[in-house]
Amino acid sequence: MSIIQKIHAREILDSRGNPTIELEMVLANGMKAWSSVPSGASTGIHEAHELRDGEDRMNGKGVRKAIQNIHDIIAPAIIGMDVQKQAEIDQKMIELDGTENKSQLGANAILAVSLVIARLGVMVQGKKLYQYIAELSGQQAKMTRPFFNIINGGKHAGNELAFQEFMISPNLGSFSKNYFAAAEVYVQLKKDLKETFGGVATLLGDEGGFAPDHLNDVEATLDLLMEAIRKAGYEGQVDIALDVAASEFYQDGMYNFGFKSGKDDMKTSGEMIALYETIVEKYPIISIEDPFNQDDFESFAQLRNTMEQKGVQIVGDDLTVTNTKRIQQAIEQKSCNALLLKINQIGTVSEAIEAFKLAKSDGWKVMVSHRSGETTDDFIADFAVGTGSEQVKFGAPARGERVVKYNRLLAIEEIL
Ligand code: PEP
Ligand code: MG
Repeated sequence: MSIIQKIHAREILDSRGNPTIELEMVLANGMKAWSSVPSGASTGIHEAHELRDGEDRMNGKGVRKAIQNIHDIIAPAIIGMDVQKQAEIDQKMIELDGTENKSQLGANAILAVSLVIARLGVMVQGKKLYQYIAELSGQQAKMTRPFFNIINGGKHAGNELAFQEFMISPNLGSFSKNYFAAAEVYVQLKKDLKETFGGVATLLGDEGGFAPDHLNDVEATLDLLMEAIRKAGYEGQVDIALDVAASEFYQDGMYNFGFKSGKDDMKTSGEMIALYETIVEKYPIISIEDPFNQDDFESFAQLRNTMEQKGVQIVGDDLTVTNTKRIQQAIEQKSCNALLLKINQIGTVSEAIEAFKLAKSDGWKVMVSHRSGETTDDFIADFAVGTGSEQVKFGAPARGERVVKYNRLLAIEEIL
């Protein structure tokens, strides 16, 4: 009865107004579930391939070919299979695709199916999604610590800020306390920005954080965060995390802090390390993601080596792309001690779990992440809890496609 009977995919829009895939699957027993697929902007070059039509329509970003691949190639191969066989179905799609990076069928096409398979497996077994993920991954479900991106720069904002994400992470002992405290800081920051710089400074970036137009300095940005934390009444109780997304402004072996203003401002890797050393001394920073270019395993390792003693984790995102080969290299070179896990970087739930396990085998922390282009699918909230991942980042504590995931964590917290 848990046999796949029907698959229907359609083109919808994501939070940036770009096309993406929504998929409905129906079982022989009448059970039905849906999924939808996110999309990055500061995408790593080693990520699985997101298949786009490349025609004039929708700026080349249409996903009609990917949808056709679902209907014409994936559906005929998996209709009739038992939806509880996650690993088998994921493997079948990997074989149907036949490429290293899923460029034949599209990782977006494959992911839509992989996610919905898990959702229906849950329904068939009468479980919660996080319980199902816990079983698939052999982990104990547990609540996670959220990191909220409240100032946006890099590729996610029209301002001049080079660093992509300035995150706050309250440390108040429970998810719900951390969530609501973050929202208070967010609202305080909005007030501060408006009073000091005017309403234009409260415009938002792609992940719902503010994107003040006048800011281009890292320390000035961190000062704003510290002030908002203090005024909201949480001094000493909120940590800070950065996603530098350094690949986006890596040019000719250097880092161009002026990449959005057109006024070149180049720093070497050594100068980047010096900057990290300075701000880590001055601010309660506990996490730095993608501090260097996506192939620079050596500089990552150098920074990890000095930061580890200071309690600062070095997170691989574009470096590791939720891919076991890249994670293995980062383990061997001691490049990171935390994995940013994005299921769509690799394309199936099964492979994302493998990536999780490999990172864990070397004692890394795992931070489950959204993409800058999102939908209202909240799958990753359950995925984080089910795998017992220590950390999540789903953007600001605001905007529907972000809070739907945090709100799901509130519901899970009540049950756990
Ligand atoms: C990130 O870089 O961590 C991120 C969420 O951005 P994007 O989805 O644009 O890669
Ligand atoms: Mg990143």
